[in-house]
Amino acid sequence: ATLTKEEILRIATEEGVNFIRLMFTDLFGTVKNVEIPLSQLGKALNNQMMFDGSSIEGFARIQESDMYLHPDLNTWLIFPWTPGEAKIARLICDVYNVDGTPFAGDPRSNLRRVLDEMKALGFAQFNLGPEAEFFLFKLDENGLPTRELNDNGGYFDFAPLDLAENCRRDIVIELEKLGFEIEASHHEVAPGQHEIDFKYDDVLSACDKIQTFKLVVKSIARKHGLYATFMPKPIAGINGSGMHCNVSLFHEDGTNAFYNPEGELQLSETAYHFLAGILTHVRNFTAVSNPTVNSYKRLVPGYEAPVYVAWSPSNRSPLVRVPASRGLGTRLEVRSVDPSANPYLALAAILASGLDGVKNKLTPPASVEENIFEMNQEELDAHHITSLPGSLSEALQLLEDDEVVKAALGHHIFEKFVAAKHAEYDEYRLSVHEWELRRYMSLL
Ligand code: ADP
Ligand code: GLU
Ligand code: MG
Ligand code: MG
Repeated sequence: ATLTKEEILRIATEEGVNFIRLMFTDLFGTVKNVEIPLSQLGKALNNQMMFDGSSIEGFARIQESDMYLHPDLNTWLIFPWTPGEAKIARLICDVYNVDGTPFAGDPRSNLRRVLDEMKALGFAQFNLGPEAEFFLFKLDENGLPTRELNDNGGYFDFAPLDLAENCRRDIVIELEKLGFEIEASHHEVAPGQHEIDFKYDDVLSACDKIQTFKLVVKSIARKHGLYATFMPKPIAGINGSGMHCNVSLFHEDGTNAFYNPEGELQLSETAYHFLAGILTHVRNFTAVSNPTVNSYKRLVPGYEAPVYVAWSPSNRSPLVRVPASRGLGTRLEVRSVDPSANPYLALAAILASGLDGVKNKLTPPASVEENIFEMNQEELDAHHITSLPGSLSEALQLLEDDEVVKAALGHHIFEKFVAAKHAEYDEYRLSVHEWELRRYMSLL
């Protein structure tokens, strides 16, 4: 149940909260915050906290830089740890213009906008269960990350191979204190790679949780002398880190709109349309779900990350998998997304793509049971299997031609995002890499 403003004020005083962090996320997925003392909480709860948006990347122009933070009362949370003496709480905020309209460059408000479109189509809730993988590297004596992984473990390994066991358990304990329902925590396939899964939630809350999750993982890892990174492919030659997104739609009565006991594979028409929408637009939203230069080093054959646009109810190589569970757990697992994505933007794109499939009653191609990675080009063509873009630059070009995905971002975000990502790609293109020196220096 949502707390009222009055209840939050009372709890803050009773619990001795000293400072409140008002948090929001910028276009590139970075959490920003302003910290206010308790004396200002009443003002903040009345949506009167102003900040200068021009200093946040991708936000406003200088001349229109005043913005207001509207705290989402559902997100009130007192942090269980205390840096020094102070007790700190947080509220996640939506960003508003001075005239009282939602700011078009705020990824969280933008997701709300796409959710309104979903509701207009008759669905009540869009669920997300994310599986964010990460690597743990050792810190050096100055507290800086090294290139040395913390262990040599593999999938589901135990100590002593899994040296991060204690660190991972501490992360889970901390997350549980914050109200996360942790479903599983395990060592991943690559050395130094880990995964912690929490229960799915309504997409807005789940995206908020991803942001909190990353902060907690990083800060607890540091306490263990480790550096946690959500970079998609920190080391060539071993698995990268994905953030599989399990998604489903619920009806008003709490039933799963993807489930139909009478349907083929017990999936509803809606599920098939939604799946078709994702497959239709996935190449074009890859710039959003995989937004860094490094993302494309993960999307290569051989490391359990998808490369080809296909789906399957059983094997794990395709981009979309339909996990076996049915009833309330009926869902699609979108496996291309990586943890460098801004979750609010990536999920807005996924939702809008799926809804486009529902609106236009798109049908998906036949599922693929064979190992796609063993097919030659002729076989791929015969199955109408296309591949994901091979670079950020290619991905941006595809994005620019997709009206559905562009609309899901809105004009403001689309423009700022694309400009910033082109600049990022150019910076990469203009730099001379270690590989080039190794390959050519002695040869030429
Ligand atoms: P995997 O089979 O890839 O290892 P996991 O079991 O680790 O998948 O993760 C499953 C995720 O899917 C969890 O976050 C879980 O809460 C979530 N999930 C379960 N049911 C639904 C649903 N109806 N909609 C969205 N996500 C769901
Ligand atoms: N790490 C793999 C990826 O890059 C996923 C492994 C898994 O199936 O959990 O997507
Ligand atoms: Mg995994
Ligand atoms: Mg998975």
